[in-house]
Amino acid sequence: MNASKNWIQELTALLPEGRVVTAEADVERLSKDFYWYSPILERQLRDKRGEAAVQPRTLGEVRQIVSFAAAHGVPLTVRGAGTGNYGQCIPLEGGILLDLGALDRVVEISADGVATCEPGARLAVIEATARKVGWELRCYPSTYQKASVGGFLAGGSGGIGSISHGVLRDNQTVRWIRLLTMEAEPREILLEGHDVLKALHAWGTTGILIEVGLALAPRVDWAQMAVAFPDFDSCLDFTEAVALGAGWSKRLVTCFESPIPSWFTPLLKWVPEGKALAFFEIAEPQLEAFSAAAVAAGGQPVFSAPYQEPRRGAQLSDYTWNHTTLWAKKADPTLTYLQSGFDPQKLREQLAALRAQFGDELLMHFEFLKADGVIVPGALPIVRFTTEARLQEMINFCRSIGVSIANPHINHLEGSGRWRLDDSKLVAKREFDPQGLMNPGKMIGFKPATIATPEPVSP
Ligand SMILES: Cc1cc2nc3c(=O)[nH]c(=O)nc-3n(C[C@H](O)[C@H](O)[C@H](O)COP(=O)(O)OP(=O)(O)OC[C@H]3O[C@@H](n4cnc5c(N)ncnc54)[C@H](O)[C@@H]3O)c2cc1C
Repeated sequence: MNASKNWIQELTALLPEGRVVTAEADVERLSKDFYWYSPILERQLRDKRGEAAVQPRTLGEVRQIVSFAAAHGVPLTVRGAGTGNYGQCIPLEGGILLDLGALDRVVEISADGVATCEPGARLAVIEATARKVGWELRCYPSTYQKASVGGFLAGGSGGIGSISHGVLRDNQTVRWIRLLTMEAEPREILLEGHDVLKALHAWGTTGILIEVGLALAPRVDWAQMAVAFPDFDSCLDFTEAVALGAGWSKRLVTCFESPIPSWFTPLLKWVPEGKALAFFEIAEPQLEAFSAAAVAAGGQPVFSAPYQEPRRGAQLSDYTWNHTTLWAKKADPTLTYLQSGFDPQKLREQLAALRAQFGDELLMHFEFLKADGVIVPGALPIVRFTTEARLQEMINFCRSIGVSIANPHINHLEGSGRWRLDDSKLVAKREFDPQGLMNPGKMIGFKPATIATPEPVSP
């Protein structure tokens, strides 16, 4: 990287007025995400930021910025809405923070249910637009009100809906991605089929997503229900049975160990003290039968409402997936979390081993989902953090008993997140960002090609 000192002035002169933001507080805000979920990343990343934030309004401007950055050797980190959890969009080497929030159109919903979207389109807007014409998102994160589709594809994995439709990489949910390469003359590349993996969950290291095609599911009228159980074991038994039960049409299957529900302060009026709690989204016509099944399993339905009217009452998904950790941290900022996958065949055994080893240092929060066609108990356990060494001990123990961990306390692709770096991303990096300017430091396996300095010729 070889950026000249006055690149900010040069870029400002190139673009329409107001596109380049240099006010320190704004650059700081736009450079940050929810990295502070991790006490380790909070310490490592708090001083990192871009040197200028750039907010293009058109694709033409995006091209100009990318071309400028590549020609001048300026690092560039893309931001959608900045709701990522691992400091994914925090620039480690300064440079441009490229905020694509203004490119936010849902361009089209095709008759066969594929949404064509600009990268900054909010997932909630895509969902609402799709529902009007008989479709809905297959899966979305609990941050869907704010999160962008570009950020979800580049940084997320799955969420609400994944119990029925799998995660983003499954079932060709991401039909295609159009991206710009990081070159002085940026090329537009269309990724389809298996090739979308080159950019999916690549943290914006392998090109700038400029348009995406998302396959949708036929719309369902959902209802949400919360069920309290006297103990976590019976809560987990029922939740697991619902997750596995082919008869239930479902979008969300979540359960929490006590005292996690006591941190959901807006819900306390109906959350009974000291109980385990399960949250569901079930097809509305099944709600009565579902409620009866919950009671038969020893549960007490404590809340139900149609999903379609979220602003009239509690929206249960606002407490699930990684929102649970947010409520935990509001109650006690020293709490943090892990991302784990239990073995469906050994779930009880693995839980017992964890309880015996760590007691209530690790509190259970399960999100059932389908991955590669199999229903699995995903978990985002809440951790009472003491030291980095103790956290590592927990991670090591989990792995030793077959509980997989996608470590959310590491700020590079190889070590963190849900998906491991695959070769296709490394190959794509070489092809689409040969100078290594995109979000540098996040794909540590990549080394930019160096041009050998010729040996001096002896006279
Ligand atoms: C409370 C909370 C709950 C969450 N729940 C979930 C969940 O249920 N499921 C889940 O998967 N995640 C979850 N997350 C993580 C995050 O919200 C999602 O992944 C979200 O979709 C990220 O979108 P964003 O627009 O905020 O992306 P950003 O945070 O802005 O970016 C994420 C990554 O994508 C890159 N990027 C963004 N746009 C582009 C682009 N156009 N081209 C190339 N790269 C780009 C960025 O550089 C960064 O590396 C949660 C986070 C929080 C704080």
